[in-house]
Amino acid sequence: MMETQFFTCKEVKDGLYAAIVKDGQGALGNAGFVDLGDEILVFDTFMLPQAALALREAAEELTGKKVKYVVNSHYHGDHTNGNIMFKDTVIISTTETRHKIQESFRNQDVSAMKAGLSSYFAQLEDRIAGELNGQMRQALQNDLSDKRLYAESLDLIEEVLPTVIFDEKLVIQGSERTVELHHFGGGHTGSDLFMYIPEDQVLYAGDLVLVNNHAWMGHGNPHEWLGILERMAPFSVSDLIPGHGPVGSHTNIQSMQEYVGDLIRFVSEMKVKGTSKEELLGMPVLEKYSKLESPHVYEWNINFLYDYLG
Ligand SMILES: [Zn+2]
Repeated sequence: MMETQFFTCKEVKDGLYAAIVKDGQGALGNAGFVDLGDEILVFDTFMLPQAALALREAAEELTGKKVKYVVNSHYHGDHTNGNIMFKDTVIISTTETRHKIQESFRNQDVSAMKAGLSSYFAQLEDRIAGELNGQMRQALQNDLSDKRLYAESLDLIEEVLPTVIFDEKLVIQGSERTVELHHFGGGHTGSDLFMYIPEDQVLYAGDLVLVNNHAWMGHGNPHEWLGILERMAPFSVSDLIPGHGPVGSHTNIQSMQEYVGDLIRFVSEMKVKGTSKEELLGMPVLEKYSKLESPHVYEWNINFLYDYLG
């Protein structure tokens, strides 16, 4: 175990590490790294460059080796903004993820983004002040704190694109360990890869599988997501490093399937009954999921699914 300001490093198996983020510190999405024998592979790079630098330092200190490869699981900034600290390495993603990262920087106007964020912060502060549910208030406070740190770091973030791209499967053969990158299409976004280490039965899931957290659906395709999880289920997994939440296991793949399926079913049924979106947003979180972290994401999902399900 190693603690930094942004994350806790946990060695899940010999040479395989999870970097689990701390709430409200701006790193936002989990990362990890793998000792390949002669060099290190880093999986995802956090939202803040400062957190990515701490990740690189932790990885090099704990293994005594240098980072050679970086993998981006999908295009979201909380998994790719830290690429700037790994410019000298080989950055790997799917073709579609590279394209999406490029697209997100193409029209980037930092002053417009800062203005957008400050009006978001003002709304969020009002909501926090009036929020009676303690769990929701805490989640909104963490969101505010994470995004404020992001806004302060915007000038440090630059486009650093993957240089090795693939579409279905890529295998990296280290001197002591082999890792597999699998791409079964897009679910959480238009393209989501996961990393599997067969000898150790460890899976780095990115945002395809979260543990104890609501999972954002609005940039992807929930039905395709279910299909990807179906194809992930046969993998033997003893430890699963999720994109958000603590280290889990194989059972979290099934929990994720249930979550996506249950929300689709719930919103469809409510629409058939003629429930309006506003009524739906006024209802409490489905009982089965009422204890999950980041309940504000549940609201975003209801909002998204209501329109998506036509
Ligand atoms: Zn994501």
